[in-house]
Order: sequence, then structure tokens, then C-alpha cells
Amino acid sequence: MSEHHTCDVLVVGLGPAGSTAARFAARNGADVIAIDKRAEIGTPIQCAEGVSQSIFSQLELEPDTRWISHNVSYVKLVSPGGRVVDLNDERVAKIKYGYVLDRKVFDKDLATFAAKEGANVLLKTRFVSGERLGNGLVRAHARNFGDDVTIDAKIIIAADGVASRVGPYFGIRTFVPLKHMESCVQYEMTNLECEDAIEMYFGKEVAPGGYVWIFPKGERTANVGIGIIPSLTDKNARYYLDKFLQTPRLRNARVVEINAGGVPVSRPLKETYGDNIILAGDAARVVNPLTGGGISTAVVSGKHAGTVAAQAVAAGRHDKDALARYQRLWQDAFGHRLEMFFKAQQVLVSMSDEELDDAADALLKCNFETLSEFELLKAVAKTNIKLLGKFKTFIH
Ligand SMILES: Cc1cc2nc3c(=O)[nH]c(=O)nc-3n(C[C@H](O)[C@H](O)[C@H](O)COP(=O)(O)OP(=O)(O)OC[C@H]3O[C@@H](n4cnc5c(N)ncnc54)[C@H](O)[C@@H]3O)c2cc1C
Repeated sequence: MSEHHTCDVLVVGLGPAGSTAARFAARNGADVIAIDKRAEIGTPIQCAEGVSQSIFSQLELEPDTRWISHNVSYVKLVSPGGRVVDLNDERVAKIKYGYVLDRKVFDKDLATFAAKEGANVLLKTRFVSGERLGNGLVRAHARNFGDDVTIDAKIIIAADGVASRVGPYFGIRTFVPLKHMESCVQYEMTNLECEDAIEMYFGKEVAPGGYVWIFPKGERTANVGIGIIPSLTDKNARYYLDKFLQTPRLRNARVVEINAGGVPVSRPLKETYGDNIILAGDAARVVNPLTGGGISTAVVSGKHAGTVAAQAVAAGRHDKDALARYQRLWQDAFGHRLEMFFKAQQVLVSMSDEELDDAADALLKCNFETLSEFELLKAVAKTNIKLLGKFKTFIH
């Protein structure tokens, strides 16, 4: 059996980027189809679920307590030599709390909001390939429960995550070199002492090129995970995480869920749009390379993708020039920060354990106005002459 659909805007992927794109495209008057290969949005998760407070205003949504597993009140950084830097309200003047989300609920609700705005959501529908049609439209070939589906659209929004396949069919190269790809594995664990903090542990023996995290989810339950740069070691991420679990605090903790995935810690794609196409979220590589956090940039890019696509359709356009505003909008919103964090990540990867300890010592001497990565980097560069040399390319 085969089915055929037509629409103005086809969104591929209903993660935070795609659901937000579909919601804003439909809200702005486009006829939207949104497909996802999963049977249930949000499951399984591949995420530690940490976000800053601004996420809900970025989404233009009132926070719902069902989306939040835990309110986090400080950040704890632990250096290879065991220096513990607590960034709490005693050290940070205008501290803003963060959240550990419950993405199984949050992601599904975002897709529901898209459907409520009028997007036609098709689950268990996997994008397989795409082509340009002679009439200026694009066609996606998909599989739904074993059946062929074709969908013709004026604009396709690729929001299909880190392993995105859509772009290359429409002339956009999405390849990420291995040295810019973080490999992550995470256990949801129970029966452990949790702090009210986002905890991050650094060091070549702990997590080469990345860090181990403990993000509290609930009563004695946390996401305990790791991201490493695989090209820096011959061992895999799970080896380092299991080694970390030997610490006395975690020895009695039990795994109740496992997930793994990749995070692009590269620069964003040079061009995140083309004739008939926009890429958003991980597919566009708009991720904070320093932390690996991509939820917030996914929803902001998704919002702009959906809005620009709907406006272009309303203007009777779907060529590259009509979609160029999308890239300007996300660059204005967070482009300069991603560039700075990319450079900072390059420095972090090159730092020895001794330098990481020195950076922790520098942070221990300072108080901060806000808890921004920029302020922390500046403080490290200012207090340590050796590190100033490494950081001066991006801190002015
Ligand atoms: C272990 C781990 C921990 C992380 N922790 C954090 C964190 O704490 N905070 C943070 O901000 N970020 C974190 N991230 C990153 C964050 O998860 C991503 O940046 C974010 O999910 C990107 O959203 P997205 O919508 O672009 O893609 P995704 O959330 O990956 O959504 C993509 C969607 O596309 C669908 N899809 C894929 N291929 C197809 C296809 N061929 N056809 C149809 N549908 C398809 C998928 O099913 C999925 O629903 C973490 C990532 C990992 C791997």
C-alpha cells in the first residue's frame, strides 16, 4: 500500500526543534505535516535533561510542573585533582536556577502543542530519502508501518537530530568530523545521595575531552552520564562511566535506564538553509560545544525555522533567498555565543589535568555577577597568566 500527502511545510523529526518548528509554522498559517519515526514522542530519551530557566520563555510557554523533574539551585565543578567549585548563591550575585526536565513528558507535550496548532502529526513515519520535483516542490519518501508514503512540500524543515539524513538530499552537507563528535552514555540511577546541583567532573582519566555529570531527577535518583571525544582515547564512554561508578558514593546506586547518543560539538553548519530547506536543532549542529547542551538552541532555532517557513509560504516563495532570514535570526539569538563556546571547547580539550586544577583554583578565588560560561572563562583567564594565553583568542 502507498499513501500520498501534500503540504506547505514538512517537518522531519519531533524533538524539541521539530515540534517547535511545526507549532510556529502552523500558528503562522502554514499547512504543516510533521513526521517522526518513533511510536511515542519523548521515548526513549537520549539526554541528561538539564536546561536553564529561560527555556519556557524561549518557547513562549508557561512552565508546567509536569515537565520538571527537579529544580537545581547551584552548579558544582570538580577538577581532576579533586578541587570542588560550588557556584551557589553565596558566590554568584544574580544566580538563576535551572531545571532537570522530564523530557518524556516535555517532548510529548511539545508535539501535542504542534498538533493543537493544526500540524498533522504522523508517527512511526521514517524519512527515507528526498528529491526535488520539476515543479519547484520537494518530495520526501517515507515508510509508515511498512508502507510507502510520499509527501510533497514547498519547504522541508530537517529537525531529525544528530544523525540527520535530510540535508544531503537537498544539497546541504551535514558531515561532522569525528574529533567534533562527543560520544555519550548515561544511566538513570537510583539509590544514591543527590545534591541539589548540576555536578560536572573533569579530567583525562575521568572523561577525555568531556565530563561526567550527575543531574538530580528526584528522590535519590539522578541522570549519571558521560561525554567523551572518542578520538582522544582507545576506550569507549561506557568504560569511563563504569570506572566512575566505582566511587564510594555510587557503589550502591542501581541503574534503572540506559541511553546513549552522540552530541555534535562542532561549529554550526555554515549554511542552515537552501532552496526549499531549513535545518534546525542538532541537524543544524546548533549545540553549545562547551557543555553539549542543545535543547535551548533547538527550540529557538525551531521557532525561527517554523516562523520563517510559514512567512515565506505566505509570500509565495520557497527559494533560498526567502529563507535566508532564518540563519540571521538564530545567529542574532545565539550565534556569537556558540562561536565563543566552540573556541573554549577547543582549549578545554587541550588542557592538561594540572591546567584544569589551576582553572579550578582560579574559580575558587572569584565571586561572580551571573552564572554564565563567559564570566567563568573570563575569571579563569584573568587570574591565571598561563591560561590567559590559551583563552585570549576569544576573551577580549
Ligand atoms: C546523553 C546525552 C545527554 C544530553 N544532555 C543534555 C542536557 O542535559 N541538556 C541539553 O540541553 N542538551 C543535552 N543533550 C543534547 C540534546 O539532547 C539535543 O541537543 C536535543 O535533543 C536536540 O533536539 P532536536 O530536536 O534537534 O533533536 P532530537 O531531540 O534528537 O529529535 C530528533 C527527532 O527526529 C526523529 N528522527 C530522526 N531521524 C528520523 C527520520 N529518518 N525520520 C523521522 N524522524 C526521525 C527522532 O525520532 C527524534 O524524535 C544531550 C544529548 C545526549 C546524547
